[in-house]
Amino acid sequence: MMEKFKNLGLSENILAALSKKGFEEPSPIQEKVIPILLNEAYDVIAQAQTGTGKTAAFGIPLIEKLIPNQGHVQTLILTPTRELALQVSEEINSLKGKSKLSITAIYGGQSIDEQFRRIKRGLDIIVGTPGRIIDHMTRNTLSFDKLSYLILDEADEMLNMGFIDDIEKILQQTNKDKKMLLFSATMPKRIIDISKKYMQLTKTITVKKEQLTTSLTDQIYFEVSERDKFEALCRIIDIEPEFYGLIFCRTKVDVDNVSSKLVDRSYAAEALHGDISQFQRERILRKFKSKQTNVLVATDVAARGIDVQNLTHVINYSLPQDPESYVHRIGRTGRAGKQGTAITFITPSEYKKLVFIQHIAKTDIRKEKIPEPKDIIAIKKENILSAISKIIENNEHTTYTKMSIDLLEKGTPEDVISALLKHAFSDELNESSYSKIAQVTRSRINDDGKTRLFIAKGRKKNFTARDIVEFLKEKGDLTDHEINEVRVFDEFSFATVPFEKAELLLALAKKESKGPRPIITKARDKNSSGNKSESRRPHSSRSPRFPRKR
Ligand code: ADP
Ligand code: MG
Repeated sequence: MMEKFKNLGLSENILAALSKKGFEEPSPIQEKVIPILLNEAYDVIAQAQTGTGKTAAFGIPLIEKLIPNQGHVQTLILTPTRELALQVSEEINSLKGKSKLSITAIYGGQSIDEQFRRIKRGLDIIVGTPGRIIDHMTRNTLSFDKLSYLILDEADEMLNMGFIDDIEKILQQTNKDKKMLLFSATMPKRIIDISKKYMQLTKTITVKKEQLTTSLTDQIYFEVSERDKFEALCRIIDIEPEFYGLIFCRTKVDVDNVSSKLVDRSYAAEALHGDISQFQRERILRKFKSKQTNVLVATDVAARGIDVQNLTHVINYSLPQDPESYVHRIGRTGRAGKQGTAITFITPSEYKKLVFIQHIAKTDIRKEKIPEPKDIIAIKKENILSAISKIIENNEHTTYTKMSIDLLEKGTPEDVISALLKHAFSDELNESSYSKIAQVTRSRINDDGKTRLFIAKGRKKNFTARDIVEFLKEKGDLTDHEINEVRVFDEFSFATVPFEKAELLLALAKKESKGPRPIITKARDKNSSGNKSESRRPHSSRSPRFPRKR
């Protein structure tokens, strides 16, 4: 079973530790990075989606290569948050098997005296947050002039969080001959700049998104009005017997609202956001990890770095800000070989944002209907039946034999069991406990599902109808037959395309636009988007043969 790991050239010690952790085969990024770090002398830039095992990709080689107790720190790993520092040090510790390497997390918020004591005892690998590491460097309690490795983990997040100056400050005080490794889910230009400035002989390893986000995660969206979202959420939780999910909201207020309404309806839910103390946060995460609570409502920032296995669902209660965070959010499910579902709620006006996310994140999100109460109840009934069968199979019911004999005197077996079911489940099986969810329809969609576009390119710039078609095809994944009624005038043109494609084109054009007006906009009035004969007229040169309606 461990063949693939063995083939990477790992020691028996590591193989045993991996199998104890239940890792069966290396993830793609591990398969690519581990041999380089074991056998070659490169600086490495590695890019792969969240949840793909980047920690072990560098952690395993560290354990194989470093010799304990050299009298100085051999590896410094920088992470953006305390949470991640802890997670990385725990992951490496759990991989080290019998190795005597000492690995610890050093971050702000921890007692600095306690950190001094640990440092004095001798540390081989330090996982730290930039601020606290600089603190120690300024106090001369830590120095990094004999490093074998310096690793930036979640490099993109570190830059997003404004740690660039801190990181450079630290880098400047390290020895030049160390290896530098950079791990990140995305590779913005600023990261490449850092690597050019500080890395020597570099190898870049990329694992493509497509391999990762989509395959194990079923992606669904529901159209629902803002005020029905909560009801929809309850239905989704109820229809899944073993629901274990993370619910994303945009603001702290939403997080508090949703979680307290869930608690009111007796779900085991908790909230996580920036106003929650570190102490509370750890308690909440512990409960969630041990499944004492099975619903965690969080903001993007608060959820950063949470590492929970086996989530059945990630729910975007509100749409993420951008495609990147969509990928980031849903990367929490469908991990490590387990199937997961990502659900996104969109209100009618958000449809175009969703189209944009799909396009950029290169993923398919399919539309589904919110489960109906009768379907949920049918599933609940099935679950009750199978739970009861299990009790009988396992002979767990015998303490109730006397009671059942007494009960059977009250009526036929059917009567008694029915009464029992009513007593135990009448609330749970009551259809009317679900409120109605209104059907929503998208605004701004033409009757025929098409949109008339205004394109700021025309004959004067030598654009022909064919050029307009090519231009639209290239921009928006369109085919020839999806582009209709192309009309080219001196300064501008019109074309009609399917609504969804139009929304995408409009979003892209808006994003790319440098001037006051994007190149593609919605045609302004009904004369350019309405019935066919009218749509042939540009709004600036209306012909007298088509007088304006009064
Ligand atoms: P990343 O840093 O890429 O976001 P992590 O290193 O945090 O991902 O790993 C995500 C989860 O996957 C961790 O819980 C880790 O223990 C687990 N994991 C890593 N590699 C494997 C593997 N080869 N097989 C199974 N699980 C793995
Ligand atoms: Mg990571």
